[in-house]
Amino acid sequence: MRAAGRFPSPPAPGVTGMNWLTNYVRPKIQTIFRKREVPDNLWHKCPSCQQMIFHRDLEKNLHVCPHCEHHMRIGPARRMALLFDDGQGTRIDLPRVAADPLRFRDQRRYSDRLREAREKSALDDAIVVAHGTIGGHKAVIAAFAFEFMGGSMGAGVGEGILAAAKLAVLQRAALIVFPASGGARMQEGAISLMQMPRTTIAVEMVKEAGLPYLVVFTDPTTGGVTASFAMLGDIQLSEPGAMIGFAGARVIEQTVREKLPEGFQRAEYLRDHGLVDLVVARKEMKDVLARLIGMLVEPRGIAGAEVVALAHPDLAIPPPPAGATIEAEAEGSRPAKPAE
Ligand SMILES: [Zn+2]
Repeated sequence: MRAAGRFPSPPAPGVTGMNWLTNYVRPKIQTIFRKREVPDNLWHKCPSCQQMIFHRDLEKNLHVCPHCEHHMRIGPARRMALLFDDGQGTRIDLPRVAADPLRFRDQRRYSDRLREAREKSALDDAIVVAHGTIGGHKAVIAAFAFEFMGGSMGAGVGEGILAAAKLAVLQRAALIVFPASGGARMQEGAISLMQMPRTTIAVEMVKEAGLPYLVVFTDPTTGGVTASFAMLGDIQLSEPGAMIGFAGARVIEQTVREKLPEGFQRAEYLRDHGLVDLVVARKEMKDVLARLIGMLVEPRGIAGAEVVALAHPDLAIPPPPAGATIEAEAEGSRPAKPAE
């Protein structure tokens, strides 16, 4: 297989750079010198707190700002290396789709944009699918590449989700999707919209097979991706601070003519309002996913998941008083609300 391969392992924690000069000379001093003398890739500016971060520190901290915990965007290969056991997963080839079926052109030809994105990213499209194990559990990961035309969903991405779902069913593995997308790929018009029902059906196959389907929102998840498979996880997780929504905040504000609340469309806000189940830091993501998959595939392993006969008679549920049965049934089997 052309694309099959291993992902590089993430750097071991505690590894320090050998270069004491670049490690300890603060960037302010460097600005004294001409810019060209300092390679651009040595220091990164955090887009959230504007602090400068040395690239090795950033790498070591999984591309999370050590000052403000801002989670920077990372590509599929790096993400998968952090999640699969030993940092090793096997990437699968994705089906080829017709390039530029509509012969679309805006300021530039879509075919030119595609070629350029492929050259820059060394990817065929905005999604990568790989399989491996997470905490010993079989898992298929489909991760978006935002750097590829904004992670937009066209036929290629649709095929990727479909292939990932089929692979999960075939291997009896959990499916985990990491969307990072601006939405449907407008250069593919109606074809990109057709990927919404297609990907919905794809994840239904996984659910019908009784396998876990998890979604981890990453920054940003918007548009037709939010409106299809990305909202259908058994459990909806998110990286901290991720922007999640359908339409942009400005469009909504103009439509409803109201000021939107602070933190609107952010992962934490959506968790507090019930749209996201868990916000998980990148460094804890692997452990959390492993635990969740374990719970979903082997529910008997969890204390309390099984109904057991109670040995102690005092703990047995007393029978309802005579006459209360019909009323209780009419009320439904829900437990009564506690008095406030
Ligand atoms: Zn920061």
